[in-house]
Amino acid sequence: MSPPPIRLFNTMSMQKELLETLVPGKVGIYVCGPTVYSYVHIGNARTFTSFDVVVRYLRYRGYEVTYVRNYTDVDDKIIKAAHETGEAPVALAARFVEAFREDAQALHLLEPDVSPRVSQTIPEIVAIIQKLVDKGYAYESQGDVYFSVSRDADYAKLSKRNLEELCVGERVQPGDQKREPLDFALWKAAKPGEPSWDSPWGKGRPGWHIECSAMSEKYLGASFDIHGGGLDLIFPHHENEIAQSESATDQRMAKYWMHCGFLDLEGAKMSKSLGNVVRLRDALTRVDPEALRFFFLSTHYRHPLNFADKALADAEARLEYFYETLRKVDERVAGKDFAAGPLHGEPGRFRAEFETAMDDDFNSAGALAALSGLFALMNELTDKPPVKDKAMVGRTLQALREEVRRVSSVLGLFEDSPAEWLLRRRDRAVRERGIDVAQVERLLGERAAARAAKNFAESDRVRGLLKEQGVEIMDTPGGTVWKVAPAST
Ligand SMILES: [Zn+2]
Repeated sequence: MSPPPIRLFNTMSMQKELLETLVPGKVGIYVCGPTVYSYVHIGNARTFTSFDVVVRYLRYRGYEVTYVRNYTDVDDKIIKAAHETGEAPVALAARFVEAFREDAQALHLLEPDVSPRVSQTIPEIVAIIQKLVDKGYAYESQGDVYFSVSRDADYAKLSKRNLEELCVGERVQPGDQKREPLDFALWKAAKPGEPSWDSPWGKGRPGWHIECSAMSEKYLGASFDIHGGGLDLIFPHHENEIAQSESATDQRMAKYWMHCGFLDLEGAKMSKSLGNVVRLRDALTRVDPEALRFFFLSTHYRHPLNFADKALADAEARLEYFYETLRKVDERVAGKDFAAGPLHGEPGRFRAEFETAMDDDFNSAGALAALSGLFALMNELTDKPPVKDKAMVGRTLQALREEVRRVSSVLGLFEDSPAEWLLRRRDRAVRERGIDVAQVERLLGERAAARAAKNFAESDRVRGLLKEQGVEIMDTPGGTVWKVAPAST
C-alpha cells in the first residue's frame, strides 16, 4: 500500500510539503500543552482542537500515531498564582491539570498517548542541560544555567529573525547572570518559597523551554516527525527548543513544524491585560461543545479566527440543521433492510471530496463544505426525492448516513444521537428564552386532540399560539416534535 498523499504546511520551509514520515506508517507528534496556572482559554482550546483533528485524521489515514502533549506544571505563573491563593505551587498545578482534563473531555479532545509533566521529567531535563554545558553550548552562572545563543550558528532558523535586530535595545541588565542579552535560562537557582530540585548546579528548577526538548526526546526520540503549537510559540519558545535539542543531539529535532493561527475576541486581541480572556468552561455554558468544535473547524487552522457571539450562534444553528437532517434520515432508514441495488447519484464522492480537502494541509473548512453537500443530498432525498424507486432512496440514505459516521470520528462531530443532541439544544434555548415547557406540552396536547377530531382550524390556532411563544412544531413520522425558533435579531 502506498502512503496517502498528505501535504502539510511546514513553518520551517514556509511551504506545503508532502508528509514523509521517518518510519513509514508511523507518526510521532509533539504539541506544546497548557501551562496549568488557570483554566484553559478558548485560544488554546482552538489550538488543541486543531491538533486533535490532525491526529484523528492521520489515524483515519492508517498511520500509527504517537501523540505527546505536555503539561507545564512548573513555571513562574504557577508560582505567582499559588502565592495568591496560598496553595503549594505543585498542588495548584495538579488542580488545574484536572480542570484541563475535564474541559478537554467536554470538548471531545482525545487524550494524548502521553501527557508528561515537568515535575515528573526533572532527571531528563537535568541530563540534557548537563550535555549542553559539557558541549560548550551552555554555562553556569551563580546557580543559574544559560544557553549561549551566539554558540548556535543557525539560531532563529524557524522564525527567520535577524539576530542583530533582535539584539537592538537588548542589553544585559545589572544583576543579570547571563553574558549576552539573547541568552536564555535553562535552569534557575532556587528562590525561597519556590519548588526546587537538586542538580549539579545546586537546588533550582528548569526554565520554560528546556522541558519540551527533554519530553519530546524522552517519548519520541531525538528526531521526530511533527512539532505543533500556537503561532505565538514560534519565537522564542520553539526557536529555543530547536537550539537546545539540536545542539544537544546533533540531529534535526522535528521534520515538520505546524502552527495554529490566532483567535481574536469580537475583533480584538484576547489578552490578560485587556481583561477579555474567555475560559473554555465558560464558553461551554453558552454554546454546545460540538458547535464550538464546528466553529473552530470551519476556518483553516492556520488562519486567524474571530470568536464572536453571532458566529457561535450561526455554528450552533448549522449543527442543529445537521442533527435535524440526521434525525429525519434515521427515522426513515435506521434498521431497515433495503434489497441490494443501484444508488442514486454517487454517495461516495463526498468521501473523496472530504479526503481531498483534509489531505491538503488538514483543510477542515473544505471538509465541512463537502459534508454540506452530503447533507443537502440527504435532505433532498427525504423531502422531495428526485427518483420514484423508494428502495433506491432508502439504500442511498443508508449509504450517506454511513459516510457521516465514518467522518464524524475524524472531526469529533455528530457523535451524539440526533434526538439527544436536539433535546439538549432545546433545553438550553428554553432556559435562555424563559419558555414555559408545561404550557407548551399542554398546548401540544390540545393540538393533538384537535387534529384527532379533524378540527384543523383549532389545531392551526394552537400552532399559532405556540409560534407566538417562540415554539416551532414539526410533524414527523415519529410523532410531533418541537423546537425553539431562532431568536429574531
Ligand atoms: Zn514547547
